[in-house]
Amino acid sequence: MPAAGGLCHIYGVSAPPKIGIIRDQRFLRHLTGLSHPESPERLSAIYRLLDYEFPVDFPQPPAQPATLEQIEAVHRPSYVQMVLATARRRFTHLAADTTACADSCLAAWLAAGSCVQGVDALLAGELDLCLALVRPPGHHALPERAGGFCIFNNLGIAARHALQRGLKRILIVDWDLHHGNGLQQLFYDQAEVFYLSSHHLQSFPRSGDWQEAGQGPGLGYTLNLCLPAGFNDADMLHLYREVLTPVVERYRPQIILVACGFDGHADDPLSNLALSAEAFGGLAALIMALGPRQNGAPVLLALEGGYNQAALTACVRRMLEAFTGAQTHAWSARSGLAAELVARARTVHRPFRVWTG
Ligand SMILES: [Zn+2]
Repeated sequence: MPAAGGLCHIYGVSAPPKIGIIRDQRFLRHLTGLSHPESPERLSAIYRLLDYEFPVDFPQPPAQPATLEQIEAVHRPSYVQMVLATARRRFTHLAADTTACADSCLAAWLAAGSCVQGVDALLAGELDLCLALVRPPGHHALPERAGGFCIFNNLGIAARHALQRGLKRILIVDWDLHHGNGLQQLFYDQAEVFYLSSHHLQSFPRSGDWQEAGQGPGLGYTLNLCLPAGFNDADMLHLYREVLTPVVERYRPQIILVACGFDGHADDPLSNLALSAEAFGGLAALIMALGPRQNGAPVLLALEGGYNQAALTACVRRMLEAFTGAQTHAWSARSGLAAELVARARTVHRPFRVWTG
């Protein structure tokens, strides 16, 4: 089995990107109840892929818990106490769709900690790209409440940690099917965190319309791309190539955080998009090309949605193939529909001159 470092000839650069994965069996102890889509089996299927099928070995350190201070940089102490109290009960409804067993608090703490740990590994230069394969997911969690299967806002906590460490330009890319309302709210009024989300507006939580672009000093630093039902691979690749590229070139992020959800896959039970695993391979290749491959910003990806196990593992496999350079992608993909969305994004954002020039 080749190591991840043996691929420099594919990249044509002197040093290959250093890729790491944070995983932990304790994430599987977060039980959500029978027939809940956010199940431990999602993650065990991905872990099996890594253990038995994917032909590259990555460093895979276990998760470290976040500190109370790191969690409370995002969440209100009263809410954190509420989450801690779930450890004393067999089962708790934190929100209508978000449940906790006695071990969920530990998993949530570790999920947030994994993202902090990923930021630290990237900033230390130990890794160029880190994939945190965690659950529960995070991008819907608000300072004072759980929601959308999320308990703590994992990437929000990571971004606050990166700010604490002195970073001034953090880019969050959210390609989950759903809008990351928690992430948007956390950084809506600050320019130090640029939040870019593509999502289906009519799906939960129904926020993230085009005109939501930030406020105060953050005006122009939230970019919402609303995808119509049936959006396909070519549409997605065209849209991201034309929007993400100028965002990275003009904003010049010091780190890129990716809310990495795969529930836009056509086979996902929550999806109304028409994406295949190829789209996520393409997005991964684009992120790699704009970040580590050009000696640009390091990248932390945290798992969000994705509720069909076969589709989820296919997407993760395709993404890892893109990161390791084992597959190429259809960069030339063009789409009239995506061109319309790019034009709309530019029209909304031109007055702010953050990425449109
Ligand atoms: Zn989602």
